[in-house]
Amino acid sequence: MYCQYCGNKVEDGSKYCPKCGSPLAGKSDAPKEEKQNTTDFEKTYYTESASPRTGTKPGSARTMAIVSIVLAFFNPLIGLIVSIVAFNNAKRDDPDSLGLAKIGIIVSIVIMAFSLIITVVALVIMLPNMLEIMEKTMQEATGIIFRG
Ligand SMILES: [Zn+2]
Repeated sequence: MYCQYCGNKVEDGSKYCPKCGSPLAGKSDAPKEEKQNTTDFEKTYYTESASPRTGTKPGSARTMAIVSIVLAFFNPLIGLIVSIVAFNNAKRDDPDSLGLAKIGIIVSIVIMAFSLIITVVALVIMLPNMLEIMEKTMQEATGIIFRG
């Protein structure tokens, strides 16, 4: 028989491996089975992690990229997320759709930046009016308090 830890050849019935000192007595089959299980697990793990590479349908990255461009006009954040996913899928499965996914990312970012600028401009325009309204409200409030 052989030591299941170091592979050293040992006499049948030996309790310990003379080379590495591992206990061998009686249990020579159990650890071997365990080792077999791990390799089985590894096999399943690797085939499972490898299957999405070939599992996604060709053209799905392209569809996703187109959807992301459309979504960007309604919600640029969702558009950006979808286009990044499309980009990763395209990089993996469909290099021809990379350009389309990039367009999705750019459109999403541009729309996001544009709406941010509009929000900032609107705030800058509205801020003096808002301060005025707040001031008036405060004056009215204090007036009410002092009048009793
Ligand atoms: Zn050994």
